Amino acid sequence: MYLFFTFLFGSVLFSFACCMADRILDGEDFIHGRSHCGHCRHVLSWTDTIPVVSYLLCRGRCRYCGERIPVHVFLWESGGGVLAVCMQQLCTGSPLHRWIMILYCAILMVMSRIDRRTLSIPVFLQYGIAVLGALDCLTGTVPLPERLVFFLVPALPLWIICRLRPVMGRGDIRLLAWSGFLLGRQIIAVFVLSMWAGAAVCIILRKRKLAYVPLFLAGILPTVAGLIDPLVLLYLPK
Ligand SMILES: [Zn+2]
Repeated sequence: MYLFFTFLFGSVLFSFACCMADRILDGEDFIHGRSHCGHCRHVLSWTDTIPVVSYLLCRGRCRYCGERIPVHVFLWESGGGVLAVCMQQLCTGSPLHRWIMILYCAILMVMSRIDRRTLSIPVFLQYGIAVLGALDCLTGTVPLPERLVFFLVPALPLWIICRLRPVMGRGDIRLLAWSGFLLGRQIIAVFVLSMWAGAAVCIILRKRKLAYVPLFLAGILPTVAGLIDPLVLLYLPK
């Protein structure tokens, strides 16, 4: 029963996150605006907005105009539910810490979608991670001195490098700093993994400029789920 509610919470959260990302990209108000069909603009009733269920019942189409609902909406809702269940099962630490990690992943997903399209990260989302970091201090998962050290590492050296040569955006560095404060030493594993992912994508797609948050996300999921030990990772490249 607990896992069912976790799935439900995850799908509701990621449904909201998906809507938020889409509205920010379309320049719409994501707090006050009512949910509406992106095609006919018809305001949706509560029965049209039940994550996963509404999409399946209407067979992926708007109930009012019959236009196809983008498949990413369904993927976010169902994937968010699965992700929340996986985090609850795999992540170590107190229940509050695990809920914070689920919220953190939702914020990163919104950032990732916006960053991929615009190569920028809204500042209020970066401060959202700072708030989660402050909240996570209550769980005692990471000691405060460790949080402070990894707020600066690897963000500060990167900030200095970027003063000389802009290899990363300022938003990306702020993301690393606040994530370091939230995660502690795990940020090193996430950073190394994201750099490897970036190098692989650059070689395969022959691109010179990449959105950083999707790469960061590729590093965060295995690390936060406890599948990768940051210390092992540090020694791997040698
Ligand atoms: Zn419609």
